[in-house]
Amino acid sequence: MTGEVTMLRPVVNNPATRPELTDTLMSSVRRKHSHAVSLLKEAVAEFGNEYQISFANSMGAEDMVLTDIILREKLAIEIFSLDTGRLPTETYDLIAETEKTYNTKLTIFFPQAETVENYVKTKGINAFYESIELRKACCHMRKVEPLQRALKGKKAWITGMRAEQSTTRVDLPERQFDESNKLEKFNPLTNWTEQEVWAYIRMFDVPYNKLHDQFYPSIGCAPCTRAIAVGEDVRAGRWWWEDPQNKECGLHVKHS
Ligand code: SF4
Repeated sequence: MTGEVTMLRPVVNNPATRPELTDTLMSSVRRKHSHAVSLLKEAVAEFGNEYQISFANSMGAEDMVLTDIILREKLAIEIFSLDTGRLPTETYDLIAETEKTYNTKLTIFFPQAETVENYVKTKGINAFYESIELRKACCHMRKVEPLQRALKGKKAWITGMRAEQSTTRVDLPERQFDESNKLEKFNPLTNWTEQEVWAYIRMFDVPYNKLHDQFYPSIGCAPCTRAIAVGEDVRAGRWWWEDPQNKECGLHVKHS
């Protein structure tokens, strides 16, 4: 042993996370940024200044853009994250980096320990691979139930979802009534492209999950997320063993 540090993951550079910052791209980002700020300010004005609006921060690239906007603009919006207990190490590193960069503490919601213990005891530690029902049950106890607790008493919530992310999100509006959680929902980045998200991150030096550099455009729990090939759908690495129409965890239910 010579004392060198061994890298456990290969160092790769996904060009999508480093777009060329052309004048056209930066001007488009500035325009959309300004529109997103206006939308968020209108939401705060409409739904009260008492932190009755929450932002569900998944720590993905889009959500880091929104985190940056909310904290820079000092908007009265509560930021929270869900720790499912199965997140990748890189996501925990990003939570720590975000708290340091913005000199803040994120509110983290955890699943109910007893429910998780029962699931693991009766179904198995990785039972989510066995069927859609067991996968959705895992997502429900680790994500949906904590989200419902996080949103209790709130009047509106904000997400970083974008329309072009998947077939389940193509019609995503900037604003909609969320029937499942019975409150208003804002999607300020719905019309942003992936390139614009990354241009914002580079222009404003926003912290981000280092897995994005390793071809993970969409990051969830470690056992349910994999890298994608160039040209694949950005959500192709989530629950890759399932049909694309099923690829939501229940946090964002589409009502037709
Ligand atoms: Fe469970 Fe996978 Fe859903 Fe995470 S993404 S809550 S590990 S099924």
